[in-house]
Amino acid sequence: MTAIQETTQTGLADRYGRVATDLRVSLTDRCNLRCTYCMPEEGLDWLAKPELLTDDEVIRLVSIAVTHLGVNEIRFTGGEPLLRRGLVGIVASTTQLTPRPEVSLTTNGIGLARQAQALKDAGLDRVNVSLDTIRPDTFKRLTRRDRASDVVAGLEAAQAAGLTPVKVNAVLMRGVNDAEAPELLEFCLDRGYELRFIEQMPLDAQHGWDRSTMITADEILETLSGRFALTPDDASKRGSAPAESFLVEGGPQTVGIIASVTRPFCGDCDRVRLTADGQVRDCLFARTESDLRTALRNGADDAELADRWRRAMLQKLPGHGINDPSFLQPSRPMSAIGG
Ligand code: SAM
Ligand code: SF4
Repeated sequence: MTAIQETTQTGLADRYGRVATDLRVSLTDRCNLRCTYCMPEEGLDWLAKPELLTDDEVIRLVSIAVTHLGVNEIRFTGGEPLLRRGLVGIVASTTQLTPRPEVSLTTNGIGLARQAQALKDAGLDRVNVSLDTIRPDTFKRLTRRDRASDVVAGLEAAQAAGLTPVKVNAVLMRGVNDAEAPELLEFCLDRGYELRFIEQMPLDAQHGWDRSTMITADEILETLSGRFALTPDDASKRGSAPAESFLVEGGPQTVGIIASVTRPFCGDCDRVRLTADGQVRDCLFARTESDLRTALRNGADDAELADRWRRAMLQKLPGHGINDPSFLQPSRPMSAIGG
């Protein structure tokens, strides 16, 4: 049997022919920003410490995913993963696994200036930093915190440490930062960061998402086209990558658009998620979860945990259903799932 056949038979296959190889691990549901599209000003009822997987438990489950289940990409996220005290150690253990997975981090960048080199030394490959605006006043309005300069410093430190390519994620909100998209792109192009705009999704804790006010991929393209010549990047093999890529002024630099709402890419999804409290989620929008923490704490061995994880994938639906009239937002918000 070839290695590829083996992975397909023993990996994280769903009922629709997709195999998950990209694991998003939430290390905490807490955050030091309060982005309006994500959570309310007062924050949320954070998970209690005993509910959180310990560092060793995270490493055990990540190790099972890589060595038993064919996962070859690990992204640590949250909440804000830089708030997790054991982050560097978790990254170091993950990068020592065989086969060596790609390891990346999605962060709001606050405190990255301090930790970038240690993360690089631990083997981290890349970072995605969220930055929706380069104007400090807009940043404060969007995140309810006056920390724009910390994020810019974090981006610089990530690049200096070689956590490249540095990617920037941006969400646009109508009447807040949508008109600033071209200047954000200019900022990223000047510094060699890869910018991707993400359509706002119905995953905020306040359930305030409204289809009629969200900024669509078409609108983003139109706004950017006022300043830049954009052409589809045919050379980029999109595969399971969610971002549609466009060459800016003929290339080689690009800008990406992740149109989860208006151009869903569920048919090519290769993701699976593990929450900070040890629940497998087969989709951001899943309304069910599979508990690995209880089995793990009750002494299940690796084979049993792997088997539970495989079975969890069989519940994965063909699509997220945002555009169905019967769509119901999941009870956990993005910050508690791991974006
Ligand atoms: N705190 C980190 C950060 O902001 O990068 C990691 C977690 S955050 C939930 C991951 C990504 O999700 C960020 O890029 C953020 O902008 C995005 N995000 C949060 N809420 C969103 C929403 N309702 N729709 C689309 N993207 C969202
Ligand atoms: Fe925090 Fe990230 Fe949510 Fe903003 S998007 S509040 S940085 S978890």
